[in-house]
Amino acid sequence: MTIAELLRLIELQTRPVHPESRMALDRRWTELPDHVKTANQLLGRSAVGCEGTHNVFPKCNLTCTPCYHSADANQVRVDGEHTVQEVRQQMRYLRQVRGPRAHAQLIGGEVSLLDPEDHAAALTVMRESGREPMSMTHGDFEYEYLLALVLTADGARRFDKVSFAAHFDSLMRGRSGAVRPLCEAELDPFRQKFTQMFADLQREHGVRSYLAHNMTVTPSNLDEVSTVTRSVLAMPYNMLSFQPAAFMGDARRWKEDFSEVSIDKVWERIEEGAGQKLPWQGTQFGDPRCNRYTIGLAAAGTFAVVIDPDVPADTAARDRLLEHHGGIFFGGQSRPVLAARLLRAALRHPRDLPVLLGVGRRMLARAGGARTLWRAWRSSTLGIKSFVVHNFMDASVVAPAWALMEQGLTSDEPAVREAQERLGACMYTMSHPETGRLVPACTQHSVLDPAENNELRRLLPLRVKN
Ligand code: SF4
Repeated sequence: MTIAELLRLIELQTRPVHPESRMALDRRWTELPDHVKTANQLLGRSAVGCEGTHNVFPKCNLTCTPCYHSADANQVRVDGEHTVQEVRQQMRYLRQVRGPRAHAQLIGGEVSLLDPEDHAAALTVMRESGREPMSMTHGDFEYEYLLALVLTADGARRFDKVSFAAHFDSLMRGRSGAVRPLCEAELDPFRQKFTQMFADLQREHGVRSYLAHNMTVTPSNLDEVSTVTRSVLAMPYNMLSFQPAAFMGDARRWKEDFSEVSIDKVWERIEEGAGQKLPWQGTQFGDPRCNRYTIGLAAAGTFAVVIDPDVPADTAARDRLLEHHGGIFFGGQSRPVLAARLLRAALRHPRDLPVLLGVGRRMLARAGGARTLWRAWRSSTLGIKSFVVHNFMDASVVAPAWALMEQGLTSDEPAVREAQERLGACMYTMSHPETGRLVPACTQHSVLDPAENNELRRLLPLRVKN
């Protein structure tokens, strides 16, 4: 390599926004429907959206009502080799079209049914494609599984950090020790035990973690969302995520009228549990009918949002920082490279530093000031937390909406047209390298999963013939 080539490489590696990220973001923004091109929109400006795997291991050993998997998901054998190969291909395609960095969920049925070696291999190939993986689990596994995942056979550390999203709610049946929970509170010890495994992992092996708590919401547990929020806020979960149930997947598991649960009702109950308003309009991922999200500082029982939509200085700072720095990513690189990127960004826009400090100062004031922070730090209740509601759609509207979109047509039917608008602004994508397509997760579960699982059933039968 010549000196000129080396310098070019260093320049590229330390450029604040990677050129492929820039291209992917610009394409994303161009393709978004006009109704979501709002000032608070993060897609296409700082993020390309979330990604998830499919066609991997649809089997699960719990039974939930509802379940988003098609009826024959449990007829497919969990096969590590198949999973790793599929994940590799899907992630490579995402790297190609979505750029060098994104968050991706290792999701199928239950991730802990994978042999720990295969699970580790899947996480590794996701990272090789610049994806920050998050393993989606029901949380019913033992510490030994976690150890086998993060450590090699000779005890060496495979990963410095792991991310898990654990699903706990009273609609799930078959959990060890809580086979048929009667209420959400009954699951609190299990929620706590799950986080304890990761605290032990950090203490004993220095492996850090990012933990999300997931809960499906139906009419039967809607009123318990507030108590779950209150309990989980006191636990070391980084994200509290709620999913109103939708009529998709296995129809045998639809037991209630899910239409009674709206994204607004769920958010109200979360606010009730948090004991305060949780302003979410400062930032938006995709369509507000699909996603609600807010991030902030949790300190000694208070939550201080980063961008308060009612504070003009906050929204002005958001606009300016997105304009100048949208697309900078922080993970998946060495500290010196990140430091060089941030330094170049600061030198390019030196007047943004006081703007950023202003955002931090206002957030700290909202959190209660230095004394509250000190108290929170002493009591280990200081941390960045986010609240999410992800509102999947019913298969009955997704299927016709997608069919028309495939033909470039817009529906006259309001519900189907709404589905088309939401699918067009989707922030949760699945990769189909075989057809060169990215599809919304709603389409994946409502339209594509049944045929895919049928094919998997043939490819990976439960009983292997000798
Ligand atoms: S997966 Fe469905 S609910 Fe989620 S963002 Fe995409 S279209 Fe909206």
